Amino acid sequence: MNEQQKRENTLYLVVPCYNEEEVLLHTAEVMLVKLKRLIKEGKISSKSKVMFVNDGSRDNTWNLINALCKQSVFFSGLSFSRNYGHQSAILAGMMAARAHADMVVTIDADLQQDIEALDDFISCYMAGCEIVYGVRCDRDSDGFFKKLSANVFYGLMHLLGCKVMSNHADYRLLSKRALDALAEYKEVNLFLRGLIPTMGFQSDVVYFEVKKREAGQSKYTLKKMITLATDGITSMSTRPIQIITILGFLVSLFSFCMIIYCIIDWFSGRNVPGYTTSLVVSLLTGGLTIFSLGIVGEYVGKIYLETKARPRYIVESFIWKEAGDEAEDMKEENGD
Ligand code: UDP
Ligand code: MG
Repeated sequence: MNEQQKRENTLYLVVPCYNEEEVLLHTAEVMLVKLKRLIKEGKISSKSKVMFVNDGSRDNTWNLINALCKQSVFFSGLSFSRNYGHQSAILAGMMAARAHADMVVTIDADLQQDIEALDDFISCYMAGCEIVYGVRCDRDSDGFFKKLSANVFYGLMHLLGCKVMSNHADYRLLSKRALDALAEYKEVNLFLRGLIPTMGFQSDVVYFEVKKREAGQSKYTLKKMITLATDGITSMSTRPIQIITILGFLVSLFSFCMIIYCIIDWFSGRNVPGYTTSLVVSLLTGGLTIFSLGIVGEYVGKIYLETKARPRYIVESFIWKEAGDEAEDMKEENGD
């Protein structure tokens, strides 16, 4: 046995679910088949599991998760007291899985992210990586608006100096060691895509195809997308505030020049028609001032939330069965 294969290999798949009743049973089946295949091939231990995180769904999602957990020991579930959002759901899943897993892969419930890439994730982990990022090969399956918003977002993030990996969403593997490090971060304003690359560790990238959603609608509404983007920017960079300072300086410089110009004009006895100019200038500076205040306010608001240090989520229920019946489970599946 070589050095690489000595790593412990219990895998937990963490699956955030928000109103996913249409796709959940199919997803669970596909994931179970994959998990059992990986166990059979000796790539992961038989203690591995799929952990569903119910993010305050208002449909039948939690009942389905309950039923799945009764059916197989390979499933476990966690339910929030309300909808806290995708980022909190994956964090909660990872933190709950940390006690039992050697590696955790977060993957969406709609099977858009190719589950077959799991083999590559595990190989990278076995090769010594603590973090493996799933990066999508292309954006062909996205609509025009999703593509545009993603490009604007990643462009803006890079411009503001945030280290985010383009086209990497939250399909990633974290080892136990990386999870322990992540647990040390206490911030409420959570943007995992930006936070995780700052942790360092040996990491690698796995490329995968993005498919169409298997069923149901996207749960990322425009409002949720804008919140994620502003959280991403404000949690990772203070450059917007620096830009305001520079802008403020330039506007002040311009105003100073205008004052000198006006005084010279006044002394030379010329009439100043200047109605349009003054209107444009005052509107422009007024707009800029309010906009700048808004950006600063955004940061002040975030500081306010951080100082309160409220819990990032509240777990209402947790289902987890002790490993031990896996052999029986595998037998049933194989029909032997
Ligand atoms: N999700 C969640 N909470 C939310 C919104 C989404 O847990 O408030 C989950 C959702 O169930 C899915 C994943 O996050 O498993 C990604 O959402 P979706 O597929 O709707 O986003 P898209 O692929 O359209 O960006
Ligand atoms: Mg999706």
